[in-house]
Amino acid sequence: MLANPETISPMSAHVVLDGKAIAERMKCELREELAHLKGHPQLRILYFDTPASIVYKNAQVHVARDLGIWTDRTQTDGTYCFPWKTATQHDVEQLIQKWNRDRFVHGIFVHQPVPPQIDPQRISALIDPRKDVEGIHPDNSARRFFAKARIGSCTALAVMRLIEETGVPLEGKEAVVVGHSEIVGRPVSMLLLDKLATTTVCHLGTDKAGRLEEHVRRADVLVVAVGRPHLIKGSWIKPGAIVIDVGINVVHGHVVGDVEFDTAKARAAFISPVPGGVGPVTVMTVMRNTVEAFKGQQAESSGKRDG
Ligand code: NAP
Repeated sequence: MLANPETISPMSAHVVLDGKAIAERMKCELREELAHLKGHPQLRILYFDTPASIVYKNAQVHVARDLGIWTDRTQTDGTYCFPWKTATQHDVEQLIQKWNRDRFVHGIFVHQPVPPQIDPQRISALIDPRKDVEGIHPDNSARRFFAKARIGSCTALAVMRLIEETGVPLEGKEAVVVGHSEIVGRPVSMLLLDKLATTTVCHLGTDKAGRLEEHVRRADVLVVAVGRPHLIKGSWIKPGAIVIDVGINVVHGHVVGDVEFDTAKARAAFISPVPGGVGPVTVMTVMRNTVEAFKGQQAESSGKRDG
């Protein structure tokens, strides 16, 4: 925990939430847990040959190897790359079905966005829900709706972990989520509701109506997941707010978020940077979900043996 909630006043702290440090702590917790497991969780990653996907995949592979999460029988790194332009629905589905059938594969992660010729909802529905470490299968989305998800959206859980680190209770707070995608905005808004935050979800329609600033200005907790550099002006941030920036944008060769960081930091009590904020925690959450998926499948197969 980074601060006592009672000490937070609008002018007191401007804490930058260190995603790398949080991810390191999560890694230690996971290492401890992995040491007590029988067997090795194995993760498979399907990605596309875009720069963003390759960077993300490399970060996942680095962490997975470090944790020893996959000791792949084929000695490959457990990833498969499809060409963005020529990947077909059929080929992507064939690979997912192969991984679904393989009892040595415990987690499946498909990078988003997928190319336009691929239907992302068909892909989400095809992944075995027990192996769905991104929490995108309709069964897992439904469990989230009923606040009963065992495996949730990695990015949404990472956002919540960063918010938890502030130590600020969410009950009764005004939470504003900008972006309503299936993998980030919507699941985050569900998790904020579970914590009894009064939650508003903004999207393109809000911006087109010229009302984005008005909603952002009253946010005690602001989560932005759009993918538009500096969409949120620092001057809009409510003094003392918690600001979590999920956006990843490359501007003149530099990675930046969706929030104007320097001006926002001067007003916020807590803010996550880009890079080094949500990203590393999301990668670690994929690993956490893989371990959860592994444990679930182990328990299921031992139940079958016992029964
Ligand atoms: P997405 O599927 O493209 O969704 C973007 C959302 O932003 C949509 O709901 C869209 O609304 C909304 N939007 C677009 N323009 C807007 C505007 N002017 N004002 C308000 N809302 C607007 O993207 P995503 O997958 O959610 O990802 C969002 C960002 O987060 C991207 O930069 C992505 O790279 C990043 N990301 C980071 C991580 C991480 O671990 N750090 C993980 C996942 C994603 P409409 O649908 O109404 O157009």
